[in-house]
Amino acid sequence: VCAAYGDDHHRLLDILRTLQNRYRWISPQMLSVVAAQTGQTRVAVEGVASFYSFLSLTPKGRITIRLCDDIIDRFAGLKAVAAAFEAALGIAMGETSDDGAFSLEYTPCIGLCDQAPAAMINDVVMTNLTADRAHEIVAALRSGQSPQDLISPRFSALTPYEQASRMVESNIRHAGSVLLGPVPDNAGLAAALDMTPEGIIEAVEASGLRGCGGAGFSAGKKWRLAGATPAGRRYIICDADEGEPGTFKDRVLLTERPHLLVEGMTIAAKAVGASEGIIYLRGEYAYLEGLLAAVLEERRIEGLLGRAVMGQEGFDFDIRIQMGAGAYVCGAESALISSCEGRPGEPMTRPPFPVEKGYFGCPTVVNNVETLCHAARILDRGAQWFFDMGQAGSHGTKLFSVSGDCLNPGVYELPYGMTVHALLEMAGGEDAAAVLVGGPSGTMIGRDSFERRLSFDDLATGGAVVIFGRERNILEIVDYYMSFFVDESCGYCTPCRVGNVFLQQAIAKFRKGLAGPEDIDYLKDLSATIMETSRCGLGMTSPRPILTTLENFPLVYSALVKPSEDRLRPTFDIQSAIDDARKLARRRSYIYDRDFGQ
Ligand code: SF4
Repeated sequence: VCAAYGDDHHRLLDILRTLQNRYRWISPQMLSVVAAQTGQTRVAVEGVASFYSFLSLTPKGRITIRLCDDIIDRFAGLKAVAAAFEAALGIAMGETSDDGAFSLEYTPCIGLCDQAPAAMINDVVMTNLTADRAHEIVAALRSGQSPQDLISPRFSALTPYEQASRMVESNIRHAGSVLLGPVPDNAGLAAALDMTPEGIIEAVEASGLRGCGGAGFSAGKKWRLAGATPAGRRYIICDADEGEPGTFKDRVLLTERPHLLVEGMTIAAKAVGASEGIIYLRGEYAYLEGLLAAVLEERRIEGLLGRAVMGQEGFDFDIRIQMGAGAYVCGAESALISSCEGRPGEPMTRPPFPVEKGYFGCPTVVNNVETLCHAARILDRGAQWFFDMGQAGSHGTKLFSVSGDCLNPGVYELPYGMTVHALLEMAGGEDAAAVLVGGPSGTMIGRDSFERRLSFDDLATGGAVVIFGRERNILEIVDYYMSFFVDESCGYCTPCRVGNVFLQQAIAKFRKGLAGPEDIDYLKDLSATIMETSRCGLGMTSPRPILTTLENFPLVYSALVKPSEDRLRPTFDIQSAIDDARKLARRRSYIYDRDFGQ
C-alpha cells in the first residue's frame, strides 16, 4: 500500500484510508510498517490514524453501518431506525458483532438532511430509512449481498453517474440561471485561455464573486494575492468538505456539475499560475469519488487537463482527489491543507494565510466547490452579467440547502437578497417557528425575523437553511449543536476544548429547570471568551447556537430561570458522572452494587 503512494509520508492519509478499507482497521503492526516505509515516527503515524473518525485502531466489522446522527435525522425517526438495526444485528450502537461481520455506529451530518434518516454502509449511501427497511437491509447483507447490491444487482455495470444518482437524489427544487440551469461545456475555460492572468482576475473581481463556503472573502482578491506572492509553485485546492450540519448543496454540484467544477479550477490555475490542483472530498462523499475520478480522466483524454491544456503551450495543469476521513474541522482552510499534506487536520495560526504560505509552504488558493463553479460561469457570460444579479455587496446566485420541517426539502438556486419568508413559501415551510440560517455556526431566527434577507449584509450563509416547526424544542436543538461542536473540537485550544463543554453543561441546567438569572450572563460571558480566544473558525463560531437563540428567543431561556430557593436541589448525579468510567472498565459501580445489591 505504501509503495502505491511512493512511500510518501505526505500521502499518509491515503495510505491509512486504503489500509482501513482493505483490513477494516489499522493494527499496531501496520502503524510500525507504515512508519518505517514512509520515514516517519510511529507516533506521527498513529497521530494521523487516531485523528480521523473514519480510521480505526481497533478492528471494525467487514461492513460498517454509520447512521447519520444529525438533529434532522433525529426528528425524522432516527431512534426507531437505530433500534431496528440494533435488533436485526444483535449489537448495540458502537459495537462490532462477535463474528466480525458488522459494526454499527453513529456519525455526524453526512450531507443528506433532505433525505433523512440516512446512513453510510461502507461507502454506499442509503436514504429515507425506516425501521422496516433497516431489517430488510440487514437480511440482505446477511444473505451475502454486498452493500452495492442493495442499490442495484447490476451496480458495477452502471456508469459512475448512474451509481451516484441511484444512491442519492439530487433534489433540485429550483434551478437558477448560473449553476443549475443549462451550462455549456468549457465555454468559460475557452474564454479564459484567450485572456491574460490579470484579465481573468479582473473579471472575477468585477463580478463581485465572494466565497460561497461561508466566509464570503472576495474570490478575485484571493486569486490576486496568491498570484502576486513570489513562488516557484502555486496550488489550487477545491474544498469539497462541506461539513456544516444542514449543508448539502456541494453534494449536488459534485454530482450534477463536476465538469464545471474542474473547469473553474483550471481557470483559477491559469489566473494564479498553478500547475497542480487538489479536490479535497469529504469522506462522507466517498460514493462520489468514482464519478469525479472518471470526469478527471475523461478531461485528460480530451486535452482539458494535463500538458498544454486545450492546446495552450506553457499551461499545464492536473488535479488529484484527496479523500478526507471524517473530520469537520478540516473545513478550516489551514486544517484542510494539513490534511492534504498527510498530517492531522489541525488548524494553524493565521497569518500567514494560505494565499501566501499554504500547501507545502507555497501560495495556495482554497475555494469552495460553488465558488469555483461560479467562476467558470463568470468567464463564460461576463462579469457584468453576474454582477447584475443579487444585490449590492452580494452578487449573483446562491445555492441553499433546505431541510427540516417543510414539504419540499432540497436545493434551491436563487439570487442573493431573497427574504427567508419567500424561501419558506417555495419550500412549503411557512409554518416554521424557527429557521437556522448558515447551520449551527450561523443564526437562528424566529418568525418576527422572516422578512430578513439572505445576503452577506444581513443573514450570511454558506448554504444551510434548516427549518424547525412549532413542535420543536429550541433548547434540545441548541443542546444537540453544542454536543456537535464538543465532539468536533480538535482540542488544541483550551477555550474551545473545555469552554464548549461548560456551555453544554449550562444548557443542560436550563433544560433541567436548575438555572438562575446569573446563568444567562454566564452563557454570554463564556461565549464571548471562547469566540475571542479560539484559534480557528470552529471555536470562533461554536457559541452561536446559544447566542443567537438568547437574542432571538429570549423567552425560551427566561421561562426556565428559577429563583434560587427553588434551585436548592442537588445538581450532581453520581451515577451518570461515573457512567463513562464504568463502561470503560466494563463493570458496574461499587456504589450502585452497595446501594442496590446488584
Ligand atoms: Fe481546534 Fe477548536 Fe482551537 Fe479550532 S478553535 S484549533 S477546533 S481547539
